[in-house]
Amino acid sequence: MSAGSKEVETADAKLHVLQVEDNPLDVELVQRELRRAGFNFTSAVVQTKEDFTREVREHCPQLVLADYNLPQWRGMEALPILEEEGIDVPLILVTGALGEVTAVECLKQGATDYVLKGALARLPVSIHRALREKYLREQRKQAERELAQMVEELARSNEELERFAYVASHDLQEPLRMVASYTQLLGERYRGKLDENADKYIGYAVEGAQRMQTLIQDLLAFSRAGRNKPTGGDTDCNLLMKDVLLNLTASIQESGAVVTYDALPVVSTDRLQMSQLLQNLIGNAIKFRTQKPPAISVKAEEVNGFWQFGVSDDGIGIAPEHVDAIFSVFHRLHTRAEYSGNGIGLAICKKIVEHYGGKIWVESSPGQGSTFKFTLPARATQTKGASA
Ligand code: ADP
Repeated sequence: MSAGSKEVETADAKLHVLQVEDNPLDVELVQRELRRAGFNFTSAVVQTKEDFTREVREHCPQLVLADYNLPQWRGMEALPILEEEGIDVPLILVTGALGEVTAVECLKQGATDYVLKGALARLPVSIHRALREKYLREQRKQAERELAQMVEELARSNEELERFAYVASHDLQEPLRMVASYTQLLGERYRGKLDENADKYIGYAVEGAQRMQTLIQDLLAFSRAGRNKPTGGDTDCNLLMKDVLLNLTASIQESGAVVTYDALPVVSTDRLQMSQLLQNLIGNAIKFRTQKPPAISVKAEEVNGFWQFGVSDDGIGIAPEHVDAIFSVFHRLHTRAEYSGNGIGLAICKKIVEHYGGKIWVESSPGQGSTFKFTLPARATQTKGASA
């Protein structure tokens, strides 16, 4: 790649031109035209493939001006050599009469332009354009390289951050366990033996430590979600639903919820993550209910090569301005006194779904219930029917 690409677009910068030409008079005429146009250039002249290759390697040119026909070679054959050497140098054919069809063919094969020897006055314009195009090409490549680098850096810093969150939440568990169990012990041993305030304060400390424990466990679950490479395991969602509902037995019974599901697919998603996903969504559908026992349904259909799942409820619904934000960590719309939780469940769902190349979103309006939809690549082959 030429180092002086920036300068070569001006006529004052030194331009190294490689001329592929056997006729000394034509060499001279071309150089005169360049001088006349104010180019500050050096040049080398070659006539054979071997000399061309050597020149390219030794003095990487910024421009090749090639005759179409030479006694022992053809100017167009310089193109594959430039490509092999991995350098982006414009090649302009400077030839005698060249048929329209041949000219178009040459441009298709990669020549930048062609200028007839009888019309050399056009050469400077053609060179300026070729160098300008090359400059823009390099600018674009540079921008692409920078973008790729930024994406890589972002991925690395994301990974670092995730590792940090994982290590921090993992390592915090142990000291926190100490605080939680000793404050609990304090509470049990000294309740009623100190004054009333002491009982109250110990109570707050126990509660705070327990809350922090669930928070840390949720954070750990969040940083674990999607950590491993997507596995190719077949997970039958109909069977999985039985386990999910079993895990939710207490809240289903307490709320009187009716959960139905029908003909769910087999997906290539890790069983544990799929269960986490459905459990979080169905758990929320139960939690964010109205006064009446919730009716919840889980469905799936194939849309454009993806399974599109929908978990619908008839609960409190969500205002349009919150439908995106609820998928961020710690984003909650209610106090803990109104509805329990840490605001991590949906962030975990999003992480799992995106890990498999899918999307998650919600369609809802306040008081009208919500349908959480997510997609997963449909590599599964079967669809089974079941209902609970
Ligand atoms: P958490 O349930 O711990 O609050 P989530 O991340 O699971 O955390 O949910 C974030 C917020 O999104 C909830 O606090 C609630 O406001 C809203 N939300 C989630 N699911 C539903 C639902 N099915 N109906 C209404 N609101 C919901």
